Amino acid sequence: MKKLCVFCGARSGNRPAYRTAAQAFGTALVHAKWDLVYGGGRVGLMGEVAQAALDAGGYVTGIIPGFLHSREAVHPGLQVCHTVGDLFERKSMMLEISDAFVALPGGVGTYDELLEVIAWRQLRQLNKPIGLLNVDNFFAPWLGALAHAATEGFIAQAEIDGLLVAATPEELLAKLVQSTP
Ligand code: AMP
Repeated sequence: MKKLCVFCGARSGNRPAYRTAAQAFGTALVHAKWDLVYGGGRVGLMGEVAQAALDAGGYVTGIIPGFLHSREAVHPGLQVCHTVGDLFERKSMMLEISDAFVALPGGVGTYDELLEVIAWRQLRQLNKPIGLLNVDNFFAPWLGALAHAATEGFIAQAEIDGLLVAATPEELLAKLVQSTP
């Protein structure tokens, strides 16, 4: 089974659509035969994706730094949970063991992880698909910022074109299958 790493908020956002989409994505990725890799917590959209994947019979790996065990409430039902030393180790293990990456709506942590995989791929240190579940166009302003940087000559347009963007879990998972070797 291939491993899909999901980056998303440790909060749930202000609108129910975010939580609903996170649950739908957790279920859909299991049906599409992916194992889930994520931050290991029970809070926010992270917890929703993991719980939905577990409820659908999926195999879920959490990776969480020890200092976040109580703050992000380690999910007790995971098949595997790696405790790591810090956020750098978390990211590096996620990048190492996962076959593809998807971001759902989130905050600074989500953007940090997403930009890291994009940066690695741009430097050819990573050759794995990267997708965005664009729930209610959440990522539009951020994609606009990337497009601006491309227009101004700081990012190759091909890097942006290489991102898989879809509004629904099914559409995004179909795009991932097409671009996973
Ligand atoms: P957020 O999107 O800010 O709600 O954060 C989502 C997840 O990313 C949480 O589990 C944060 O602990 C985590 N996070 C925040 N910063 C980093 C980082 N630099 N590296 C890895 N994970 C991070």
